[in-house]
Amino acid sequence: MRSDLVGLKPYGAPHLDVPVQLNVNENAYPIPDVVVESMRAAVDGHFAGLNRYPDREFEDLREHLVTYLQGVNDRAGQSVELSSDMIWAANGSNEVLSHIVQAFGGPGRTVLGFTPSYSMHPLITTGTGATWQASARNDDFTLDAETVAAEVAALNPDIVFLCTPNNPTGTSIDLDVIEAAYDNCSGIVIVDEAYAEFSRPARASAMTLLDGRPRLVVSRTMSKAFACAGLRLGYAIASPDLIDVLRLVRLPYHLSEITQVLASTALEHADLLLENVDRLIDSRDRISQHLDAAGFTVYPSDSNFVLFGSIASPHDLWQKLLDRGILIRDIGIDHHARVNAGTDEETTAFLTAVDEILAEDP
Ligand code: PMP
Repeated sequence: MRSDLVGLKPYGAPHLDVPVQLNVNENAYPIPDVVVESMRAAVDGHFAGLNRYPDREFEDLREHLVTYLQGVNDRAGQSVELSSDMIWAANGSNEVLSHIVQAFGGPGRTVLGFTPSYSMHPLITTGTGATWQASARNDDFTLDAETVAAEVAALNPDIVFLCTPNNPTGTSIDLDVIEAAYDNCSGIVIVDEAYAEFSRPARASAMTLLDGRPRLVVSRTMSKAFACAGLRLGYAIASPDLIDVLRLVRLPYHLSEITQVLASTALEHADLLLENVDRLIDSRDRISQHLDAAGFTVYPSDSNFVLFGSIASPHDLWQKLLDRGILIRDIGIDHHARVNAGTDEETTAFLTAVDEILAEDP
């Protein structure tokens, strides 16, 4: 075993079969029947051809992603010129991030992140042999351009991770923070926008900064708003030169034919799949208001989950909820826990259980 991996812990969200699963930021709603039927029909013609390798460059999927993103940008009034050579895709945005860090990180290189943030950023970094450097967010988990500029300038890292909305805090950053990171280093700036579709009102995407910034890369996923976590499809948007480099580190044919077809079909139904986003935002806001009224510290969230603090023992709360069939996330921040926005029923079940637990032991 590599000595630099000794003592590291693997990604470890508990995978428990309980009725109300609110712990890994999935979309609580299943894929609508119309889309299921469409997916079934789309893969049908592809089985006999599985003797052949899939399209290594996933051209059709890239086109579908361009069409979807162009629609997103047009609706938001964001002028972004995209082309298929600016798109990358892989098995979940975890793999997309891993490709980027493999290509631009590696031994002898430094990667900076602002914690608490997504736990896979450091794991992906150390997996490539690069050094992870964590800088702390403000006490309320916000990030400002001045702090980011100073931290980035002091380290001049090879890669900077920014996550917006940030997991596990739900906090968004403004574009000036991204510009501050970009302007103060000569490395790659990764903006992880896994939860972007849950921001209301919609915030300007880092995609709007791509023009003239060849070291900027925006990562997104179909696992959250699109309700396709099981499909495993993440994607990145960046300059054609940056995307081209990723072809050196991906394994040949990394996206199966079935994945490509299902993802393209899902993208054709983007409007339908994204219909539940508003419902999840309502659930999220209901959770925030309820927990705030119950006396917890609640952090403003632009995502499909809520981070709350002032919990005497997050582990006790986690266990008491689990005893009632509800799984939330003890994210390892003292006195804090994270809960996913569920369906209306799941959200009610969670909030009722919290009230019961508080009544037992206020
Ligand atoms: N980025 C962030 C911030 C996440 O929270 C997650 C999933 N929890 C991912 C990336 C990876 O998601 P996926 O691989 O399913 O696209």
